[in-house]
Amino acid sequence: MINEFAKTHNLKKYQVDQFNIGYYKTLISSFDELSTWSKQLREDLKKELLFSKLTVEKTETSNDGSTTKVLFKTGKNNYIESVLMRDKSRNTVCVSCMSGCPVGCIFCATGQMGLNEILDEQEILDQILYFARELKKENSSITNIVYMGMGEPMLNLENVAQSIEAITDTDKLAFSKRRVTLSTSGYVQNLRAFLGKNLGVKVAISLHAPNQKLRDILMPNVSKNNTLIDLFEVLDGYVKDTNKRITYEYVLIKGVNDSISDAKELVELLKGRLALVNLINYNENGCFEFKKSDNTLLFQDILLKNGINCTIRKSYGGDIKGACGQLSVNYIQC
Ligand code: SF4
Repeated sequence: MINEFAKTHNLKKYQVDQFNIGYYKTLISSFDELSTWSKQLREDLKKELLFSKLTVEKTETSNDGSTTKVLFKTGKNNYIESVLMRDKSRNTVCVSCMSGCPVGCIFCATGQMGLNEILDEQEILDQILYFARELKKENSSITNIVYMGMGEPMLNLENVAQSIEAITDTDKLAFSKRRVTLSTSGYVQNLRAFLGKNLGVKVAISLHAPNQKLRDILMPNVSKNNTLIDLFEVLDGYVKDTNKRITYEYVLIKGVNDSISDAKELVELLKGRLALVNLINYNENGCFEFKKSDNTLLFQDILLKNGINCTIRKSYGGDIKGACGQLSVNYIQC
């Protein structure tokens, strides 16, 4: 965050270290709290840099207290949402990398917003730091970070990669790579570039269909130019090189992709691959006619009986539209 400032003010390494300790580890809540710096330097910092590029517009917590959704405004007056999900000792933050999303998957509320703005590294980090500071007030901390909020990370590759570097940098947030998951709809070329960076985070693919034809219908913008054949070529190469398992997210929509034959086709697609299927019950969102599947357990059973690892994702925050596929700021009339 302070690279430019450090250069123009000829900061010594120990001063940069002091900043990083205060900002990322102590989680100060304003530059005034950076007591290891002189008052003058703090004043310069305040004049030249924003403590956070995002401002909090609204927070909502679900009835059961498990989920808090925060509406942030960017400097360009666009809105994004981020979500904190609590489950026992687990505090997972779901971050956005864009305001809206250009991919327009036909079942996703965020996709209906189109793209308003691509977030920079700092704006992505600001979401994480916000929740880290909030949890610190309860003597708690973030345990997991998922890039599954608004936007497609592979269409904001550099900023997303830089934010992951900052999260996992031992001088900054020092977050375990194993506790960071990036989810993508599968832009093959950029995914190859991302995986080539060896950032060590977990990768999840928004698959949502067991074949090319159905994927072309559900996710037309990404699917048509990024075929399953090309996608698996990249993923299979990555698994071969790293022996890391890929998670495949599959949102189950009634009568669309949840039949027994869909499950069997998914088995055939993933057989022999190091894969975990994460089934997601469709969260009805008022934007579409799509309905939640009744077949979730049966679908899971078919996968498990055929040797495919499969879990069902716990849904958080449906009552505040904070669940998967529901993020869209309120001014969007679905
Ligand atoms: S599912 Fe993901 S990639 Fe598709 S429109 Fe929604 S946010 Fe974008």
